[in-house]
Amino acid sequence: MENPLINEFREHLFSLRREIEEAAREGGHDPDRVRILAATKTVDTERINAAIKAGFTLIGENRVQELQDKYDEYDPLSEKHFIGALQTNKVKYIVDKVSLIHSVDSERLAAEIDKRSGAIKKVMDVLVEVNIGGEDTKSGIRVTDTADFCILLSKYPNIRVRGLMCIPPPMPIDGGKYEHFANMYHLFIDIRDKNMDNVNMDILSMGMSGDYREAVKNGANLIRLGTALFGKRNVLG
Ligand SMILES: *Cc1c(COP(=O)(O)O)cnc(C)c1O
Repeated sequence: MENPLINEFREHLFSLRREIEEAAREGGHDPDRVRILAATKTVDTERINAAIKAGFTLIGENRVQELQDKYDEYDPLSEKHFIGALQTNKVKYIVDKVSLIHSVDSERLAAEIDKRSGAIKKVMDVLVEVNIGGEDTKSGIRVTDTADFCILLSKYPNIRVRGLMCIPPPMPIDGGKYEHFANMYHLFIDIRDKNMDNVNMDILSMGMSGDYREAVKNGANLIRLGTALFGKRNVLG
């Protein structure tokens, strides 16, 4: 008998797609271009694989150790991304496992990804993480430096910049978060329109369980959902 979880996830996917469709149209964006990434931290692989079978084929981990531990058990249908803060000394453990790294925020990290990807003859797709809220304590490239940073990364032969990612500061949607999403979209379009060599600005990764509708309304085409799919995490993630 089919795992009943699969059907639950399938229904969830159906209702999410309807919400995304509505939000995208409201913002004048193409809903068919919006992908859902299942953020799978702390979730066991049985549930993850049920989600994959139901159609959530794109998954993302934010910790290297957890990705390594679960990797062999993921349904091979899945596409894997790395979405968390990445330490330079751990790059070597993930370059063979993921197809996109969402969180490039320093040249040192980029150089290491380039080197380790080159060693396995791979060109790694990456996103530049932007510190859209201008927070002192947050990782990410400053808005005003982002275009130059993309140019810098475009020189590395084993990396391809595919877009931008952000995690806005926690705040109510109408208390400024909406503006952060709108600013991200403008930055994305500005850089895309510069048509830099070796930069394909086609992915805008923003929006999580609490704010994905607003993100999609503002042009996000990759949303990262954890609790909205798997329920509350009982471990700090
Ligand atoms: C956990 C995580 C998410 C998903 O968060 P939820 O609020 O549970 O949807 C998205 N992005 C990153 C980088 C994460 O670590």
